[in-house]
Amino acid sequence: MFLKGAKGLLKKKETLKGDKMTVPKWAEGRVDYTKSKCIKCHLCVKHCPAVAIKVVKDKFIKVDHEMCIRCSVCTEVCPTKALVMKSE
Ligand code: SF4
Ligand code: SF4
Repeated sequence: MFLKGAKGLLKKKETLKGDKMTVPKWAEGRVDYTKSKCIKCHLCVKHCPAVAIKVVKDKFIKVDHEMCIRCSVCTEVCPTKALVMKSE
């Protein structure tokens, strides 16, 4: 019984070995900010789960790309499409 279970585990490992690691589509891009479209509503700041968007001079925003986890939440909540995901 125990041996059967152990064999199953080994089989699964082999399967995983053959799988290719692929980067999901959503994680390929980078958040792009168009300041001229921004109405300073700060919805993006409130909703960013990684606290990667800061309010800067004149109440515009700045995305910290080191902190960004590329979840796209900001692009969804931005009412003017000032934030969009762009492929790198
Ligand atoms: S993509 Fe996600 S983590 Fe990156 S700035 Fe937008 S909300 Fe924040
Ligand atoms: S959600 Fe869009 S319009 Fe509002 S502050 Fe962020 S970038 Fe500007």
